[in-house]
Amino acid sequence: MTRHRTEAAALETALERARSSPLYAERLRGVSIREPEDLERVPLTTRADLQRAGVHGTRAVPLDRVCHYGETSGTTGASNSTWLTAEDLRGNARAIAARHPELFGPGRVLLNRFPFMAAPAHLIQLIAQEGGGISVPAGNINWDVPFPRALDLAITTGAQVLVSLPVEPIVLERLARERGLDPANATRFDAFFLGGAPLPPAMRARMAHVFGVRVVELYGSTETMLLGTGCPEGTLHLETDLVHVEVLECDRDAPVVPGREGRLVVTTLAIEGSPLVRFETGDLVRELAPCKCGDPRLGIVVLGRTADELRVAGAKLHPYDVIDVGAEAAASLDSSVFFVVVLRDRILVRIESETGGDPAARAESRLGVPVEIERVAANELLDVELLTRSPRVYKPVVLSDWQRPGRRIVSLNEGMIEWPKIGAAEAWRWLRRNLSRTSRRRRLLRSG
Ligand SMILES: [Zn+2]
Repeated sequence: MTRHRTEAAALETALERARSSPLYAERLRGVSIREPEDLERVPLTTRADLQRAGVHGTRAVPLDRVCHYGETSGTTGASNSTWLTAEDLRGNARAIAARHPELFGPGRVLLNRFPFMAAPAHLIQLIAQEGGGISVPAGNINWDVPFPRALDLAITTGAQVLVSLPVEPIVLERLARERGLDPANATRFDAFFLGGAPLPPAMRARMAHVFGVRVVELYGSTETMLLGTGCPEGTLHLETDLVHVEVLECDRDAPVVPGREGRLVVTTLAIEGSPLVRFETGDLVRELAPCKCGDPRLGIVVLGRTADELRVAGAKLHPYDVIDVGAEAAASLDSSVFFVVVLRDRILVRIESETGGDPAARAESRLGVPVEIERVAANELLDVELLTRSPRVYKPVVLSDWQRPGRRIVSLNEGMIEWPKIGAAEAWRWLRRNLSRTSRRRRLLRSG
């Protein structure tokens, strides 16, 4: 069969699967795919369509075939639902493991910091179960593994791979330095597998430098599941066996000229639970030229959500590029800790650093808008003291034996969670940082 015919057959199978869900039963009536181009006649599926369809609207299999339910975090207030079969999860896990033998293998310790609610946390667990290593379930945004404990786990287990959101290495580096440790020597990491937020080159380069690791990008979404991973050249290649991808022009539903920016539209080829047809991911991507690594699959840069495009001093900017510039400016001041504030007339990059230098000119020439660099003291942006003092959580109890040594508690609440007591000196520092932030915010608001 020619490639064309194979592609059309894969799409036809995907549509057939989708027809079993309430969302697509009506939409796909009478549609058949003889040529891949026939797909273009199928209407796009937006996030609003998914919300209208309801919690079970995308489910194309009976509940007794489902093993996993996922929900988007709902940054816009609404959330979407995804139902997955065991084979859906296995297919994703197999694709990642097969693509990255350097990350996963017997005996490799994987510090799994993805939040439990997010599918990647479960994919890593599956990869480990299938011989890809030892998963240490240590989801963040979670009180039982606060950041200091994550660093302890990294050190004590000798983890080789950190699997997490891109902010994690920044926090772990800060905590390590606070303890007087060199991040590269204190941990045995040789690779980071990061996803869930923009990860531009300057951020990757800084992490690679600080920890002495290889940084691999993971791209996907709750609705579509795995979309791609990074290659040794740093290119994000799309998983074209799992998804059929279209890149459409920003202002009309026509394919972009190759190499231009456009909206990413995805048809899942392998998902049984909640298959999607021409799903508008909301991500703006840039197609890349064929990659030097030899992988023929399309490489892209994910520039951010179309809805998140920034407007500064009359110019349109992508969060991806702005974060890249922020990370680069911070790195030039030997820091990983930065925070970008997008104002009407300029970009303000706040950097925790005591090193001299002024990266503003370079940043301005890259972005084409005014950039202000503000150097701030340690803990102003990332308060390590506060992170170190996160609450302790316990297995809940309904009884406390005061005759034994240990905590003497009188309530269920105390049995579950213990908030740290704050000394006067610490309270004063905390108050001072809060006041400093409040006053900075006020001055920025006044300056427009
Ligand atoms: Zn490549």
